[in-house]
Amino acid sequence: MTRFKCQVCDFELWEPIAELAVSTLGLYNDARFPGRCLLVLNQHLEDFSLLEPDLLLAFNLDAQRSGKALAEATSARRINYAVLGNAQTHLHFHLIPRYPEAEQFPKKSPWSDPRLPIRLDDEVVIQLVKKISGALTEAQKT
Ligand SMILES: [Zn+2]
Repeated sequence: MTRFKCQVCDFELWEPIAELAVSTLGLYNDARFPGRCLLVLNQHLEDFSLLEPDLLLAFNLDAQRSGKALAEATSARRINYAVLGNAQTHLHFHLIPRYPEAEQFPKKSPWSDPRLPIRLDDEVVIQLVKKISGALTEAQKT
């Protein structure tokens, strides 16, 4: 799969996983939260309030579908969904699997985690991309 890169703002996904209805899912390489992903709207828009109803629905359905696949692929206790846009304005969701047993502050936002965001081993990245992609494909069949 080719990397997603916005022609307007150059926002780019490093480890693409799947193209969904109106967005592209990619792994965000963060060993604190294995399976953490970004879901990027395919077209360049900068504010959630600008989404027309059809696009709003489709983007949220993509986020929900991705979250279900992440939950299945990672066995995380919960998936956090966040739309911030502070550093990168191109509309995207952060999808963050939470692992309370391994976290110091599991009831706080993932941005409160004091661990350094080190990268996953390459082999783990390959396995996660394969598992998440497989879970998305399986969900499509049912
Ligand atoms: Zn953009």
